[in-house]
Amino acid sequence: MNHQNKKYQPGDIIFHGGDQSDCAYIIEEGQVEIFVESNQAIIDILNEGELFGEMGVLDQSPRSTSARALTSVTLLEVKTQQITNRLAESDPIVKALVGVLLKRFRSMLPDQQLSSVNNQLLNQVTSVIEQSGFSKFKLENELRNAINGKEVQTVFQPISDIQKKCIAGFEALSRWTHPERGFMSPAEFIALAEETDLIIEVGDLVFNRAIEMLTKLPEHVFININVSAKQLDDKQFLNRVLKKAQTNGVNPKRLKLEITETLVVDFNLARKWLDKCRKIGFPVCADDFGTGHSGMEQLVELDFDVLKVDQVFIRNMFKNDRYQTILKTIAQMAINLGAKLVAEGVEGEQEYEFLKSLNFDFGQGYYFGKPMSEKDALNLQF
Ligand code: C2E
Ligand code: CA
Ligand code: CA
Repeated sequence: MNHQNKKYQPGDIIFHGGDQSDCAYIIEEGQVEIFVESNQAIIDILNEGELFGEMGVLDQSPRSTSARALTSVTLLEVKTQQITNRLAESDPIVKALVGVLLKRFRSMLPDQQLSSVNNQLLNQVTSVIEQSGFSKFKLENELRNAINGKEVQTVFQPISDIQKKCIAGFEALSRWTHPERGFMSPAEFIALAEETDLIIEVGDLVFNRAIEMLTKLPEHVFININVSAKQLDDKQFLNRVLKKAQTNGVNPKRLKLEITETLVVDFNLARKWLDKCRKIGFPVCADDFGTGHSGMEQLVELDFDVLKVDQVFIRNMFKNDRYQTILKTIAQMAINLGAKLVAEGVEGEQEYEFLKSLNFDFGQGYYFGKPMSEKDALNLQF
């Protein structure tokens, strides 16, 4: 049991200034007064539903004020662990902001309420959280500048026709080399971009480059592009892409949009989005297929044009027979549903042959080619 209700009579002290902080409180019933014991100065009067005592819990320092029940009071205790766990899991920027607020609040209190030891502890805690949060702010700024300065590159990885063993298309992937940190993993900087609206700008950059690239490629070659949740929410996104494709004379069928299963939280919304894509002519692929929790339900509810089977199935197919069984089942299911099938992460000849025997349509992976610059991609044989 992490928390419990505590009852107090009018006038009861809930905690004294200087007490060690071990929990915060939410007022379930009654009224509480926060005051300074030395001069009885009242700092605040709090009512039902309000939280107090959280300051000391956040930085683990003793109570800086006292609290007294003004009426009959019922309090819900929130233990230190519950708050610190949440804070530990929270975004570094949130942590930094909490740290700054704490520091400001404490600096407003009279000196004698803060022993030098606690001040030191507080400074240590705040400097650690400020550093982690502010370095993230800094990185976010640098990413923004890199996007504006077109330093975020787009590379293209071949997607091959498995039966004919020739290039059918590419997946466009983003790359960012940080001036000091060097190569940044897309998983890391795309996640950072997704936390803000920066992903819209990354997305537009990739779409514009892919459309330009398509004007230089043979008509039968397509490009797959990763689409994030925020782009789906942006009402103008699909129209912007369509307009760009039209002005460049590119058939929307050649731009395939990849969305991951985890992104589909609301089937009704996703279905509307898929219908809109279909009307415009953009095919939609289920990326990382088989890794989400809602795989089967998603297949019933959403009519994807392409299923991109996640790398984990390909990587393990010769390590564990059950992966082969699942791959065979997925292949049969895709045929029955009329969806095209892509295998991701194909690295060897043996994997290729097995996927071919299962009638997979396309394959992507180091076996066919690594992600490469636009120039290298255009030099390939089609
Ligand atoms: P993803 O969409 O699943 O992309 C495939 C990832 O697998 C790429 O990693 C690719 O380089 C890697 N890969 C391809 N073939 C092989 C192989 O044979 N073996 C192995 N081990 N790996 C292979 P990358 O480029 O690091 O991208 C990681 C993820 O970041 C992507 O996963 C995608 O979700 C995201 N991402 C990358 N660029 C963009 C972008 O422009 N926009 C969005 N929204 N997401 C992006
Ligand atoms: Ca993808
Ligand atoms: Ca994938």
